[in-house]
Amino acid sequence: MSTPCRFDDNDYKNWLKCSVALIHFKEGLHEYIDKEVNNLHADIHNTISAKLVGTSVQNQCYTCTWQDIKWNKGTWRINCQSQICDKWLSEILAKHTNPQNRNINWKNADITRWPADPYEVAKVYMPKGLDRTKNHPQDFDAPAVLSLLKYCVWFSQMIPNYNIVTDLIDFRNEVMHSGDLRITDFKKDNCIDIMTQLLTDLNIHGDVLTELQKIKREDIDINYRETEVRALRGLVHQLKDDHNTAIEEVKGNTMETRVTTETNFQVLEAKVEQLTEQYQNIKSFLANNLDIDDKDISDNIHVIEKEHQELETNIASVERRTDTYVAEIEDKKKTKQSPVLEGNYMYKTC
Ligand SMILES: [Zn+2]
Repeated sequence: MSTPCRFDDNDYKNWLKCSVALIHFKEGLHEYIDKEVNNLHADIHNTISAKLVGTSVQNQCYTCTWQDIKWNKGTWRINCQSQICDKWLSEILAKHTNPQNRNINWKNADITRWPADPYEVAKVYMPKGLDRTKNHPQDFDAPAVLSLLKYCVWFSQMIPNYNIVTDLIDFRNEVMHSGDLRITDFKKDNCIDIMTQLLTDLNIHGDVLTELQKIKREDIDINYRETEVRALRGLVHQLKDDHNTAIEEVKGNTMETRVTTETNFQVLEAKVEQLTEQYQNIKSFLANNLDIDDKDISDNIHVIEKEHQELETNIASVERRTDTYVAEIEDKKKTKQSPVLEGNYMYKTC
C-alpha cells in the first residue's frame, strides 16, 4: 500500500473506523464499569457479612498471596489463617461464569486487598498480563473490560444475548491483530451493530451511541490522518503487550523444573510465529508509508524489536530443552521394554 493510495482503500478506512469505534465503545463503558464494580464489591461484602453475623469482615489479611490459591479436589481453595481470603475466594468464584476454569488469573490481583478494593476483585475476571498497579476503568484495555463482562455473572446476567460479548472479543482481536489492516463493509457494520446492542443491553445511551451510528452511516467527518495515528498507536501498544505476555509465558516454561512438554512447546511456538508475522507486517507497513511520523509509534516499534529478539532467543532455549526432554523420555521407554534376547529362545517372558 503506497502513501497516496491507502486513504483511497475502503477496507483500510474501515479498519481505521473500527479502531475508533472500539475506542468510543470502551470509553462509553467507563462510568458503567466503575459503578457496577463497586456494586459487585458491595454485594459480595454484604453476602459475607450476612453469613458472619456479629463477626467483622473488614479486617484485612496481610499474609496470603495469589500463589496460596490452589486447585484441590475439584475446586479452588485457600487456607487463610485470618479466615478472610477463603470467604472472598468463595464468593468471587460464585460470581464467575466458569468457576471450574483452571486458568483463572489470580495473579492479576492483590488478594489481601479484596475486602478493601473493588478493582482487586474485578481483576480476577480479566485476562492475564494486566498491569497490577492500575485500578481504574480508564486503565484497562478493551479485552480486560470485555472479559469482565464475559466472566463475571454480575455483568453477564444483564446481557440477554450473552454470545455477542464473545463475538466482540473476537472482532476486537481481529482488528488489533490484523495482518493487512483491512476490514470489509459488512464486518464493520456488523460489529458496530454488536457494540450498539451491547451498550443498549447495559442501558448505556447518549453520546457513545450517536458516535457509533455516525461512524456506521459515514456522516462523520473523519480526519483520517489523526485517526490513523490513534489506531496505529493502539495496534503497536497491543503488539508490545502481546510480546511481554509471550516473554513471560516462555520464561515460565524455561524456569519450570519439569521441562515443557512437546505439546506446550508447539502452542508457544505457534504464538511466537503469529507475533513474528504481525511484527513483520507492521514494520513493512510503516516502511512503505514513511509519511506516518509519530514518536510514540516509532519508540514502541524499537521496544518491540528488542522484545522480539528476546522472545526468539528464549523460545530457542525452550526448544532445546524440550528436545532433550523428549529424547530422555524415549530413552526411558526403550529401557523399560523387554530386553531383546538373542538366540532362539521360545519363552521370552518366563
Ligand atoms: Zn488470607
